[in-house]
Amino acid sequence: MIIKNGAVALPGREEPEALDIRIEGGKIVELGKNLSGDEEIVEARGLLVLPGGIDPHVHFDDPGFTDREDFGSGSRFAASGGITTVIDMPCTSIPPVTTVANLEEKLAAVEDKAVIDYGFYGGVCCQSMSEGYPENFRELSRIVFGFKTYFISVMELFSAVNHFQFRAILERAAELGVTVLLHAEDYSYVTAATEYFMGRGNGPVDYYNSRPEAAELLAVRTALELVEETGADLHLVHLSTGKAAALAAESTATCETCPQFLEFTLDDFIACGSPLKVTPPVKKPGNREELWKRLAAGGIDFAASDHAPCPAAGKETGSVWTDYAGIPGTGTLLPYLISEGYLKGRLSLKRLVEVTSQNAARRYGLYPNKGAIEAGTDGDLVLVDPGQSWKVVGADFLSQGHITPFEGREFSGRVMETIVRGKTVYRAGVGILVKGGHGRFLTRG
Ligand SMILES: [Zn+2]
Repeated sequence: MIIKNGAVALPGREEPEALDIRIEGGKIVELGKNLSGDEEIVEARGLLVLPGGIDPHVHFDDPGFTDREDFGSGSRFAASGGITTVIDMPCTSIPPVTTVANLEEKLAAVEDKAVIDYGFYGGVCCQSMSEGYPENFRELSRIVFGFKTYFISVMELFSAVNHFQFRAILERAAELGVTVLLHAEDYSYVTAATEYFMGRGNGPVDYYNSRPEAAELLAVRTALELVEETGADLHLVHLSTGKAAALAAESTATCETCPQFLEFTLDDFIACGSPLKVTPPVKKPGNREELWKRLAAGGIDFAASDHAPCPAAGKETGSVWTDYAGIPGTGTLLPYLISEGYLKGRLSLKRLVEVTSQNAARRYGLYPNKGAIEAGTDGDLVLVDPGQSWKVVGADFLSQGHITPFEGREFSGRVMETIVRGKTVYRAGVGILVKGGHGRFLTRG
């Protein structure tokens, strides 16, 4: 395959360069001017060529909760939004990924479905710490990209760990040289506040009050104290407050944020209701500006979607307390950052590449094979027309989830083609062009 005449975003460069890209055997083998040959030609004149997006935080729910999403629909939706690699969370499948045997069960269930490349996180929860720990942890650590933990969880099969257990996990992880990921909301605060505010109402403000800024900050401060004591490698997922991102930036921990926190505030949640119910909830005005600032300047390492859809009925239970927390996001992640970040001048081209691809690849040991357009790396590319705009219509999502807080929003910059290891998996106006199974299973190291 030769991608001709595109404006190519090379690593570390502020301006795109007019180059052709030759891909052979799934790898980029040559970058240059006027490349020719008898292989497939993809015309990219007028298009921006970015390294394929990496979404390092998705819940594809497979196997076990495939009424919400599965690896086929999830990965097709990701591909439609320019994502070429996802890393899937361990907690929203049955069984959860807490042992190698469970991981193998999951892999068997998903390997014929994925159209893009994928890896898994393992998980440590209260249950898994009482069965076969730490042997399971050690064995899994060779395969997974990190271990997800929660300070608070409403998942029956994947409970939270307390601070003492978390410290033990950090110590073990430090010995093994593996990353720990944390859902940072404070158990004590959220449990008591939930009980209190459930008795007062069932609207967005009540839900927000059960998990306000303080809930995240208490958890982050605690976690960072234990990281300092243990020297462990921590990643804070889906930060929703500017202050938590500031604390992370001053520490050895890394962090991510999501489009929902960059775009929406409590006022939007009040207006929009359940379609914007996410955990943690969106926060008061002021946070989003701070999150954008840090995403642009470097205090936030990368963006992720926290893709977690559900059937429509799950969003229409009549109460904010029982409505499903989560939105389909992996297909709008990169389009959002292109439109509201790069094309609006909040993110430079170099920074766009970093926060949508390069930094997650570096963080999880996939770089430079993923996350960079260079000779020798995987031919994972996304071709974007910066001159086209399009409207977000949830009903058109390739995900099983169709309820999005971005409904009706106009985004600038359209994903025209998504290429995974030299094969076009998605083309605008046509759809998905490969069968499930094209996606390759990735492991740590
Ligand atoms: Zn999540």
